[in-house]
Amino acid sequence: MNNRALIFGISGQDGSYLAKLLISKGYKVYGTSRKEKFSNLELLGIANSVNVMNVDIESYEQVNSIILAVNPSEIYYLASQSSVGLSFDIPSETIKSCILGLLNVLEVCRKNQLVTKIYNAGSSECFGDNNGKPITENSIFLPKSPYAIGKASSHWLIQTYRESYSIFACTGFLFNHESRLRPDRFVTKKIISTVKRIAEGSDEMLKLGQMNIYRDWGFAPEYVDAMWRILQQDEADDFVIATGKSSSLQDFVVTAFEAFDLDWSKHVTQSQEFFRPNELLYSVGDPSKAEKKLNWKAEKTMTDVVRCMIDNVDL
Ligand code: NDP
Repeated sequence: MNNRALIFGISGQDGSYLAKLLISKGYKVYGTSRKEKFSNLELLGIANSVNVMNVDIESYEQVNSIILAVNPSEIYYLASQSSVGLSFDIPSETIKSCILGLLNVLEVCRKNQLVTKIYNAGSSECFGDNNGKPITENSIFLPKSPYAIGKASSHWLIQTYRESYSIFACTGFLFNHESRLRPDRFVTKKIISTVKRIAEGSDEMLKLGQMNIYRDWGFAPEYVDAMWRILQQDEADDFVIATGKSSSLQDFVVTAFEAFDLDWSKHVTQSQEFFRPNELLYSVGDPSKAEKKLNWKAEKTMTDVVRCMIDNVDL
């Protein structure tokens, strides 16, 4: 069996956890990045066990070369500007990164008639708030940010190539998932880092935007397992990956401060600079299809996730 995986965006949170999972399953793992240093891969102790190549995902020639050289059985397309907030500042780069690289991957597979399975990192953001109802694979798209528009388009690419050319291409609509590898620009990581500094004696305030937003928060190492399971199906299909429970950002903050016996209200302030032009107020996923077909279920709750981030562990 040709167990070779190519991960576009291997240096990020998900790419690194996915690489570790695939190595543990006996895959030879290759990846792409624009970086020279790979701190997440080093932290997970796998920097020397993966082959990372510098690839411009917008170049068809470069994407074609790496896919033909690696000859992967599975491609995971995770590369994109991944912050919803930042997408309002750099909409063009965000949308391009969600779509162009994936389009190149699909075109390479079509033109070379490859039987490679393709996973696309879709997002719950495609569906907006779904009028407050749990989001399923059949919910309609209501994107509210440049990021969500990019991710919605990426799924339509997947659907189009699957239907038109019988390519095994799938989207996982993943809800927010966190870990110690989350980059600092994300609010969850900012909360944990600031709370830790305050617990050590810093007198700074934690500055946040809207706190009454609700998200379905899960744990990244569990979510990359769902990605792998999606590509082990006999037929290409799309899945919502979520815990099925939503908590407010304020709940997340309170949980983090409570871990250090601190009263959150004394250390938190709201600031207009962190409000987004358009904010998704409520989001929750219905993971029942994934539970039934992938035999996958989120084990960790938001409280567990906060604990893992504070303790800097993956268990
Ligand atoms: P990270 O931000 O940690 O990693 C993103 C990866 O994409 C990095 O490896 C980076 O590679 C690459 N990348 C970033 N910007 C660009 C760009 N403009 N052009 C090319 N490559 C780029 O994200 P995650 O690991 O958390 O997420 C992985 C994927 O899953 C992303 O597509 C994200 O949008 C999606 N997703 C994530 C969710 C989450 O909660 N984490 C939820 C739903 C979807 P490098 O800098 O090394 O080149």
